[in-house]
Amino acid sequence: MLNFILFGPPGAGKGTQSEKLIEKYQLVHISTGDLFRAHIKNQTALGQKVSALIADGQLVPDGITIDMLEEEVDKNPNAKGFIFDGFPRTIPQAEALDEFLESKGSSIAGVIALDVKQDELTKRVAQRQKETGRVDDQADKIQKRIDEYFNKIIHVLPYYAAQKKLTKIDGFGNIDEIFESLCAVIDKY
Ligand code: AMP
Repeated sequence: MLNFILFGPPGAGKGTQSEKLIEKYQLVHISTGDLFRAHIKNQTALGQKVSALIADGQLVPDGITIDMLEEEVDKNPNAKGFIFDGFPRTIPQAEALDEFLESKGSSIAGVIALDVKQDELTKRVAQRQKETGRVDDQADKIQKRIDEYFNKIIHVLPYYAAQKKLTKIDGFGNIDEIFESLCAVIDKY
């Protein structure tokens, strides 16, 4: 299996680029944010448990997030590989993912971090909020999520840098050019 992590702050373009990547490489895309939103929409027990946290822009506890992620991987036993989007966001999540993949004789091939400046992120997410109505994209919540990324979540990157798996890509600019940079990284594997 060829597994990649697409890393970056809210509004970096992870969702947009993931769609293009899964089409080109036939990998399975797992976005923990999308999974949580589906649970909330379908009013499952998990959705009810996490909806207030998510609406408030806070992280869901590791245990819940890891269990949901692993379950989703297990639903795709024939996958050629996965693109993990929005996961891991903490070191315990990163360690759990490594252990889980190892138990399947697999691993993370590479981590691609999309680099975008904070003022550009705020603009992009404000636009997304208008289009999707996501409550956690509202101005006060998005600032909280962007701060959370730069103060906490970003500290996951050294974990992968130490494993020599990290590549940073400029996520500012044309969608197709950014996609080409991503493909150039993936094609090395
Ligand atoms: P996203 O669509 O990736 O921005 O995720 C939306 C929200 O879902 C986040 O702000 C968190 O509340 C929650 N979430 C998604 N992925 C994770 C994760 N790996 N760990 C904890 N919370 C998460």
